[in-house]
Amino acid sequence: MVNIVIFGAPGSGKGTQSEFIIERHGLHHISTGEVLRDEIAKESELGKIADGYISKGHLIPDELMIDILDKLIDDKILRKGVIFDGFPRTINQAKALKAMLNNRGTDISAVIGLEVPENLLVERLVKRGKESGRSDDNEETIINRIQVYHNNTAPLMDYYKQEGLYFPIDGGTTIEAISDEINGVLTEILEKEANALV
Ligand code: AMP
Repeated sequence: MVNIVIFGAPGSGKGTQSEFIIERHGLHHISTGEVLRDEIAKESELGKIADGYISKGHLIPDELMIDILDKLIDDKILRKGVIFDGFPRTINQAKALKAMLNNRGTDISAVIGLEVPENLLVERLVKRGKESGRSDDNEETIINRIQVYHNNTAPLMDYYKQEGLYFPIDGGTTIEAISDEINGVLTEILEKEANALV
């Protein structure tokens, strides 16, 4: 089965597009942001630690985040295929993800990169903040998160381009057009994987 990373800046539409991909292709969804928000809602120890980073727009330290992810993946979900949403966010995390998957006899098939102009990201996040009540969707934190994206996460684009895994998508159009474009890429990848098995 295929394992996909959906990649992009905050507000690029990763969560929304993951939902469509799950519907169409039946993959298992792992959103690290959602996992952390659930922990915060439960007021667990992990949630308290995570909240300190998330509310400021900072990343959870790699070591902790990699440990969390390692506990979320098992053979059962890998048999179904996984869509990784919000992970990896650093080169260290990308290397750890590769090792985790390779140890379990699998790998990443593709990285879908949602590319969205910065002014549109801010506009979308401010709008989402009014509706979602997320503690990190306020203007100050949004600016931090986009800065963190540029410093720590954007270098992953080159990393995955070098691995031949990066598929750029114009994430600035409509939800439907973006979903169709992703679907085209995924259909091709799924066909290739199926042919490789024959
Ligand atoms: P998201 O819902 O993916 O936008 O994630 C919300 C917040 O959770 C991020 O701004 C980070 O503070 C934290 N977070 C989620 N995934 C990761 C990750 N892979 N590494 C570090 N921090 C993360």
